[in-house]
Amino acid sequence: MDGEVPTRLGSIAPGAPFSPDNTRSDVVLQRAQLMRHVEQLDHAILELSMEPSSALALGALSTQRDLLQDELEALPLKQLAAATLPFNIDVGMFPVDTLRKPFINDWRQPRSGGRRHQGTDVLAHWGVPLRAIEDSTIDRVGVSSLGGRSVHLTGASGTHYYYAHMDEFAVVEGDTLLAGELVGTVGDSGNARGAPHLHIQIDPNGGSDWTNPYFLLNALYGERETEPQIVDGPPNSGR
Ligand SMILES: [Zn+2]
Repeated sequence: MDGEVPTRLGSIAPGAPFSPDNTRSDVVLQRAQLMRHVEQLDHAILELSMEPSSALALGALSTQRDLLQDELEALPLKQLAAATLPFNIDVGMFPVDTLRKPFINDWRQPRSGGRRHQGTDVLAHWGVPLRAIEDSTIDRVGVSSLGGRSVHLTGASGTHYYYAHMDEFAVVEGDTLLAGELVGTVGDSGNARGAPHLHIQIDPNGGSDWTNPYFLLNALYGERETEPQIVDGPPNSGR
């Protein structure tokens, strides 16, 4: 347990490229460290469980892991979102219907042709519904070689969202959506062939000065109900 266990939180690991904008909040770092420790313990528990007569050690590790997990879940997610986002979204929906956390901080990871990743990849099965994160207007619906079938949205907060690699569109230009309403479905169009996922980019200022969407997604994911919320009438009427 000296921190050398590989972690899936790629960009948070020491030495990995990391935007200074994303390190400013203590609660974010605290959360990242807790997540890493829980993950390391999961790893150790898995390995130990394959050895005979390890019940005592396993029990101790499991207790330690559960305590950390409790601490992680007690972190104030609203505060986390407010501390890490350069903007405020009052009501936010996680954009993909999925129950298991399907993304990591892959901001600025190297991509083909010397490019750097400009967003976050949210892994999902083909055909899974994609939803508006907040009340939004559809600015553009189009097709390109890299992004495939893609949609540009502007949210009520002024944030520009770009969804790429979609399969089907549920919107046309000029449509207005409430948070949680259907934008389309997950696909593998563009350069994602065989690996269906949502590639999402955001600019809180409404332009194309892309910002790491990871912390927004993380906050939205943490605040989700355990079951995906299907919106088919006017939602959030008390807001
Ligand atoms: Zn991507």
